[in-house]
Amino acid sequence: MSRVLIVGAGLTGSLCACLLRRELQNKVQIVVWDKARGSGGRMSTSRPPNPSSHSADLGAQYITATPAYAQSHHSFYSELLSSGVLQPFHGLIEGLRQKDDSKNYMTPLGMCSVVKHFLSESGAELFFEHHVTGLYRRGASWEVQRKAGSSETFDAVVLTMPVPQILQLQGDVGQLLSVQQRQQLDGVVYSSRFAVALFFPPDTVFSFPWVARYVTDNPCVCYVAVDSRKRNTDAPGLGPSLVVHTSVPFGLEHLERDKEDIQPIILQELHKLLPDLPQPISIKCQKWRYSQVLTSVPDCPGQMTILDRPLLVCGGDAFSHSNFDGCVESALSVLSVLKASL
Ligand SMILES: Cc1cc2nc3c(=O)[nH]c(=O)nc-3n(C[C@H](O)[C@H](O)[C@H](O)COP(=O)(O)OP(=O)(O)OC[C@H]3O[C@@H](n4cnc5c(N)ncnc54)[C@H](O)[C@@H]3O)c2cc1C
Repeated sequence: MSRVLIVGAGLTGSLCACLLRRELQNKVQIVVWDKARGSGGRMSTSRPPNPSSHSADLGAQYITATPAYAQSHHSFYSELLSSGVLQPFHGLIEGLRQKDDSKNYMTPLGMCSVVKHFLSESGAELFFEHHVTGLYRRGASWEVQRKAGSSETFDAVVLTMPVPQILQLQGDVGQLLSVQQRQQLDGVVYSSRFAVALFFPPDTVFSFPWVARYVTDNPCVCYVAVDSRKRNTDAPGLGPSLVVHTSVPFGLEHLERDKEDIQPIILQELHKLLPDLPQPISIKCQKWRYSQVLTSVPDCPGQMTILDRPLLVCGGDAFSHSNFDGCVESALSVLSVLKASL
């Protein structure tokens, strides 16, 4: 039986695991490692330190299906809708510039529930706090080293972390890349942002009507959303949560500063926008060094095969585009390479 390691329990990794299981059933052993303490990656949902508020999506906010993707990825959308993971987004999004007939969807249990759905469907062996540091070719296998703990060998490895983190790996990856592949990976550009979640006590009432708002006239804040309203789940006894994203220029300017130093600046700007905002009971700040892909690998191939045997393939939004459908496209491309190889 082939043993496949998928590095990254974000959307691309979870989709790769799920599609591979459906395709090859019990002919393959699927192992997923992630350096984080939970699944989701950039589709992360943060629980408040005290359980009297709603959780908050610190990364991806909602899923937008263009008419073309609604058709070509219909099976993914219908699976998530029928299992209740996705629901149509009906709330008011102020300042949203959406011209075509795209449809927006939200996740009643938070964005990480999309990732969790595919991971659970995959039946993969899932290991958190497994930080891959190096890959070494050993005959027909890959020896994969991690930060703490012993290395393991696999017949095939799929890397789904952001490209700069792939390029940081020790071992044979750097030497195996062709000049063109290296140039293409070096050319991938990500935006950077900070995200802040504010958790409020039960019975907090906001004076504004919108669920989410895009802000254009502030140097720091570009997006604010009431997560509990977004999910349409005003569970009694739970206070609302609010999420703030900073603009890309602000993120870039302060990228090397500690999030603890930046949080007060973001809160100050938020209070200029929403002066009546009540006092939160807790606050969480996240720095997204690799937020959304601004420049992807040319022609969006979905994957990049670094070596055929033993297989080493990269996937993720850098090889397509930075949203739900981009990750689906990438996972489908990775699957076709895995199928041909295994
Ligand atoms: C602020 C923000 C807002 C966004 N808004 C939207 C939106 O509204 N709608 C939308 O569709 N998309 C949105 N996106 C984009 C979307 O979140 C991403 O395209 C998608 O989540 C990428 O998934 P991925 O699996 O390719 O990568 P990731 O989610 O980054 O997953 C990679 C995983 O690899 C792990 N990892 C990294 N290095 C290692 C290592 N060395 N060893 C082990 N594990 C490792 C990471 O912990 C991570 O879990 C947003 C993203 C951000 C950050």
